[in-house]
Amino acid sequence: MKPPAFDYQEPRTLDEIVELLARTDQDATVLAGGQSLVPLLNLRLARPDVVVDINRVPGLDGVEVADDAVVLGAMARLATLERDPVLADALPIVPEAIRLVAHPQIRNRTTLGGSLCHADPAAELPAVAVALDARLHLRARDGGRTEEAAGFFQSVFTTSRRPEELLTAVEFPRHQGFRFCFEEVSRRHGDFPFVGLCFGVRLEDGVVTAARLAGAGIAERPLRLPAAEAALVGHRLSGDLAEVLDAASAEVDPPSDIHGTASFRRGLLRAVIRRAAARLDQGGSR
Ligand SMILES: Cc1cc2nc3c(=O)[nH]c(=O)nc-3n(C[C@H](O)[C@H](O)[C@H](O)COP(=O)(O)OP(=O)(O)OC[C@H]3O[C@@H](n4cnc5c(N)ncnc54)[C@H](O)[C@@H]3O)c2cc1C
Repeated sequence: MKPPAFDYQEPRTLDEIVELLARTDQDATVLAGGQSLVPLLNLRLARPDVVVDINRVPGLDGVEVADDAVVLGAMARLATLERDPVLADALPIVPEAIRLVAHPQIRNRTTLGGSLCHADPAAELPAVAVALDARLHLRARDGGRTEEAAGFFQSVFTTSRRPEELLTAVEFPRHQGFRFCFEEVSRRHGDFPFVGLCFGVRLEDGVVTAARLAGAGIAERPLRLPAAEAALVGHRLSGDLAEVLDAASAEVDPPSDIHGTASFRRGLLRAVIRRAAARLDQGGSR
């Protein structure tokens, strides 16, 4: 199918973007990598008056590493982040999760900001953002604000971003002393997972002293698993995790849809927790 008619704008500065988004006489949509928006346009599920293509605005794709956090520009391409040696050293869970997103051709275009703003509940990077308590920097004509990832993701394809706001950057705390990994089960490599899990632990003498778990595909949005995190504390990753698995199963109410039933997803959640624990017991990402 062909998209409905729309006006196309190509701003060259951040100020021009937010000026276009602030106009109330037209419904404007940001075009980043286009890997989700263009199919939505072609299927006529999105019918904006104006498409604001932000690909020619410089300065939105940076990678900045500080002692306590990594700040990634919203327009950073997943393929670039996947290969960035500085990011690989500072926050390896991000490139690890990126390698599970779609295929190389799609990652060449897909942006970090597009992945987060699209807010597919099964997507990997929103789960990483929630597990790490990432902070999302949003900018509008009238000023900027920062939103915690847990509050940003609200429901299926729905975030707290207002139509006039642009996501400019994402700040990921580094959680020194933690090691993280991402595990998922999907039908084929590159598909959205049925269930995905970002799993992080801090260990002392092999015993978990703190944990951070967030799942994808287990709710209408990426979800932290606080009961499972609490149950992990005091355990060894190689030990009996039955209490942790039961806590995780009890605190989620996964959707049943054409891809799988709720009980199927609950079972997969237990499986990815076991797999992630085994991997982190052997090292995992820092
Ligand atoms: C075959 C295929 C397989 C895929 N598999 C996966 C997968 O396994 N896991 C996964 O997570 N994703 C997957 N995707 C989705 C892909 O990663 C999308 O491209 C991504 O979700 C959207 O990123 P984008 O940069 O292309 O954004 P776009 O398509 O340009 O935009 C998506 C939405 O976000 C908004 N938006 C984008 N950037 C901003 C911004 N900076 N500020 C405000 N709003 C913004 C747009 O207005 C639009 O509503 C797949 C896609 C395809 C086509």
